Amino acid sequence: MTDSSRTQLVGVAVATLRELRSAVLASSAPDAAVSALREAGFAGGDSVYTAFGQWLAETGESASPPPDAGDLPIDEFGPSVGRFFRDAGWGDVLFSEDEAEGVAIVDVTSCWEATAEGSSAGQACHITTGLLSAFFGRIAGYPVAVLETECCDGDGSRCRFLLGNADVMNYKWEEMR
Ligand SMILES: [Zn+2]
Repeated sequence: MTDSSRTQLVGVAVATLRELRSAVLASSAPDAAVSALREAGFAGGDSVYTAFGQWLAETGESASPPPDAGDLPIDEFGPSVGRFFRDAGWGDVLFSEDEAEGVAIVDVTSCWEATAEGSSAGQACHITTGLLSAFFGRIAGYPVAVLETECCDGDGSRCRFLLGNADVMNYKWEEMR
């Protein structure tokens, strides 16, 4: 059992988060709402990173967890981070890397945010985008930009996030437009 007082995490019903999310989207101009939700996700990144380190130590997930979770060997890191986010209720998370493109890929199946009630086509997982940026920024040790390239509105069941440094992600962004 993770000591939530140390990790600064609190168990909040997904329905509550969805309600807050919908309220922000409904009450602000679209750009401002998206920024606010991303910043809210980003603000939690440090706490989630700390919780990940504690989870590694407490679950025995890693035989010898390094003092810094970012120093986990890559073959342990992917599966561990996937289990951590799944256990936290985020969805089924799969981490991979595309070395040729210089990006990491996070696929989230059944992301809590994507199945938000009343989400309309074209919406995206803004809180998750912000959280992933902060969390993987701590892992990487430099600012990580995140671009959600697929969101599971409609038929798809998966959200895909590309992660990389700002230069790479600006290039990806231009490519997509
Ligand atoms: Zn999504």
